[in-house]
Amino acid sequence: MTVGPNQTETNVVNGNQKLPRLQIIDGSQNFTNDLQRFMKDEWHLADHGFNYNLVAVFGSQSTGKSTLLNRLFGTDFDVMSETARRQTTKGIWMSRGKDMDVLIMDVEGTDGRERGEDQDFERKSALFSMATSNVIIVNLWEHQVGLYNGANMGLLKTVFEVNLQLFQAARGKEKTLLFFVVRDHVGTTPLANLSATLTADLERIWDGVAKPEGLESCKIGDYFDTMFTGLPHKVLLPEKFDQEAIKLRERFTNPNNKDFVFKPNYSKRVPADGFHVYAGGIWDQIMANKDLDLPTQQELLAQYRCDEIASVAFEAFSAKIKGFRQPIESGKVLEDLGPQMEEIRNTAIKHFDKDASRYHAEVYKRKRAEILNKTNSTLHVFYLGQLKNLTKKALTTFKTIVQERLKGDKYDFAEVVMEARQKSEGLFLEGAKAIVLTETDWSYDEDYYQLQEEISEIAARSRVEETKKMVKALEKSFENQVNEHIGLYLNKPSPDMWSKILTKYKSIRDSIEDQLLKKAKSFNSTEEENSQSVHNFRKRSWQILRKKIDDEVADNVFLLKLRERFEEKFRYDDAGVPKVWKPEDDIDTPFRKAREEAIELLSDVDLGVSSDEEMDFEETLVVFSETRQHDLTTRFKRESDAFYLEAKRSVVATQAR
Ligand code: GDP
Ligand code: MG
Repeated sequence: MTVGPNQTETNVVNGNQKLPRLQIIDGSQNFTNDLQRFMKDEWHLADHGFNYNLVAVFGSQSTGKSTLLNRLFGTDFDVMSETARRQTTKGIWMSRGKDMDVLIMDVEGTDGRERGEDQDFERKSALFSMATSNVIIVNLWEHQVGLYNGANMGLLKTVFEVNLQLFQAARGKEKTLLFFVVRDHVGTTPLANLSATLTADLERIWDGVAKPEGLESCKIGDYFDTMFTGLPHKVLLPEKFDQEAIKLRERFTNPNNKDFVFKPNYSKRVPADGFHVYAGGIWDQIMANKDLDLPTQQELLAQYRCDEIASVAFEAFSAKIKGFRQPIESGKVLEDLGPQMEEIRNTAIKHFDKDASRYHAEVYKRKRAEILNKTNSTLHVFYLGQLKNLTKKALTTFKTIVQERLKGDKYDFAEVVMEARQKSEGLFLEGAKAIVLTETDWSYDEDYYQLQEEISEIAARSRVEETKKMVKALEKSFENQVNEHIGLYLNKPSPDMWSKILTKYKSIRDSIEDQLLKKAKSFNSTEEENSQSVHNFRKRSWQILRKKIDDEVADNVFLLKLRERFEEKFRYDDAGVPKVWKPEDDIDTPFRKAREEAIELLSDVDLGVSSDEEMDFEETLVVFSETRQHDLTTRFKRESDAFYLEAKRSVVATQAR
């Protein structure tokens, strides 16, 4: 049967459905593009993680390799027809073993070892097998044992040599099993003897291998385990061959078999879902004739796969967080943002861990940090947005509470502010704490600090306003009291009225000052602010008093008061009855007396607070300046003169009658 490059086929043998095989490397030494698909869809191994094994086969052409593989693993590799003796297609084929988690590689070559290109392919395929497989079946005829060229042992030297360069780069504890299968074992030479010969050959080959620096004294046993078995002649002893083949198969399928071939440390630690990349990379390196460097291959593979896994995880992550953007941008505070972000991010990381953790540990760790960082920075935008919205909400809450409470008539301002601050900051802190994700260094200290500052600013502004309102109210109250009392005194002028006025002023002022200080306490004002308020109030109270007095003693008003007082004394007797002057009456004396008493009210009045009260403003009030005194006195004298003349005239008039 002729099979073209990279073709697959399904043969039906004995009615059993065989798994399809794949030519992973074709006759032109190209690596297949179908391996990933086969791993997934045909062989169903892609999700097996590390739980699969790989067996390859070495050996000369037509030594029954494919026959053996098909027998052991139920595969469907080409077997050279006994009648046609036709050359099969060159390349490497792969299949999954029937009912087992094992990949099998069959190498097809030409037998013309004298031709350079074939040796090249044999060496390449052998290197490829060694870098990928857990177990290598070395297939040889009994009569080839001990024949260096005949058993293809020469090939091993090269393969060992190049392969050792991989080990040099610290490959870990992985070993490969070399499983020698001696075909057409007649039995005259016991297997033990054949094994001894083969072991000696291997040691000799190993001795001849050029060792890399630092590994000069390494032993073959450091890297390879060996196992030996013989198989009877398939054509001459078909039943015996069948029996032994079944026994041999057990070693590959039954973990409880004492000769079970798949030891854990034979695994190349390549997760099944990344095998296609890994194998392709190995082949690329072989083709490029580079030194094979397995850890680097592992790293490249890990980078490639971890990136792929991360991008799938991130895509799912992105789809889930889409809904956060709009509401946050529009200023909303999202209820469960924290737990939701945590859950979505952790799912993404778990997703990544599940598939990526099997790859090269360092690379995995690095890539994990990368995707964690990427998801976290993506979410950080929402975190910041929500913090901003929380701050706004907290400030609004603060303002609203203060406003509402200040509407009431009984409140302690400091208490109101403290309560509102507690509520507002509590709201912020609770909301902020809830959105800090684990495995982040997110902090809201700065935002919290700013919120506190802004609250303080608002509170300060509000306090200034409230204080102003309060002071204004107290001033009004002061003014009302002053107007009432001072007005009373001045309406009935008397010599001691100024001192009475001053005393009254002080008592009203002191009582208001008391109230001012009491209220100020509720504003949490500082000593300095308090003394400033008191000082301002005193100044203002003085101005109010002064204005009141100024109004009351405005020229005409005060002249009227003087005249009234004068008239009362001069024109009315003690019983309040108007006097009727008789010729014998002394007009001059009562006139002078009444006039003096009135003028007395115009005397120097220095209204002032005593000097022990500290006041840095103009602290005295000269009610009447000297010129004003003079002016008023002149005007009053002129007016009183008129009364005198009128009294005199009234006497003359009476006499004339
Ligand atoms: P390969 O080239 O190594 O894969 O060998 P094949 O499996 O294609 O077999 C080559 C020939 O050897 C075929 O004609 C087989 O029938 C024959 N053959 C297979 N197994 C044995 C065996 O155990 N002993 C002998 N003498 N011939 C065998
Ligand atoms: Mg074959």
